[in-house]
Amino acid sequence: MARDILQKRQEAASPCGIPKRLEAASPRVNRLPAASPCGEAASSRFSSSYFTREVAVGGQKIFFHLERKPVKNLNLRIRMDGGVFVSANRTVPCAEIDQFVRSRSKYILTALQKFKNAVRLNSQPKKFVSGETFYILGRSLRLKVSCAEKDSIASDEAYIYLAVRDPTDFGTKSRIVRRFMDQRCMAVFAEVMDDLYPLVGKYEVKRPMLKIRALASRWGSCLVRKGVVTLNRRLLAAPRCCIEYVILHELCHFIHPNHSDQFYALLSALMPDWKERKKLLNQTMSGIGVYDG
Ligand SMILES: [Zn+2]
Repeated sequence: MARDILQKRQEAASPCGIPKRLEAASPRVNRLPAASPCGEAASSRFSSSYFTREVAVGGQKIFFHLERKPVKNLNLRIRMDGGVFVSANRTVPCAEIDQFVRSRSKYILTALQKFKNAVRLNSQPKKFVSGETFYILGRSLRLKVSCAEKDSIASDEAYIYLAVRDPTDFGTKSRIVRRFMDQRCMAVFAEVMDDLYPLVGKYEVKRPMLKIRALASRWGSCLVRKGVVTLNRRLLAAPRCCIEYVILHELCHFIHPNHSDQFYALLSALMPDWKERKKLLNQTMSGIGVYDG
């Protein structure tokens, strides 16, 4: 119940927790003309090779990550976490890619529904037993618990390997996983901050200190005078492009503290597709039973 309420609040909030209707009161800021019709040119400054698009099909919207690479065909992939990925050659026009996604909408929407049903089953409190799913950077990882002389934890692309002396010791397993996830949070968030900070560094903004917290209803917040950006540890579950959006939003506050027109003009100039990223964040995170410590 509390999780449902939290998710609804998050869906309606900006990273700073400002409700949508207040944001909507600000005049819309148009994308910069520098971007291509797909927004690709402007997005390419970020290290993430994906950027996001949306197509409307019969009243429903499908958000997908588009990756440009030297492939012959248009390729569609739906991850277990509900992320829709399309790869296409740079020569393929965006209109053709959108049409491709539309033509496969029935398959995509059915797969996403299956994912949502699986997520509902997965949104129970963690027991830290083998088979449980955890999310990192938009990917689902399965937990494998084993018995060992020494406690340890590691992960690869598919699994989190947790070894403990007593596999029935919930407290120890919980502590080890928590510490592991917090370390990943700091590593990932610091890496994204490293990538994005130069965009605001030229405005004489000092590199802020990063903190992670279990924030109740925000993805992030900042203390401009103290030079601190605090991020919700649940954000680790989101795709990287969404984490970039939240961090850049907070960094822009070091230049414009309020959600003023100037704030959104700056954010749009630095990240023309921030609205798509925000929608993707809400779409991805509204259903995921993420580990939130
Ligand atoms: Zn804000």
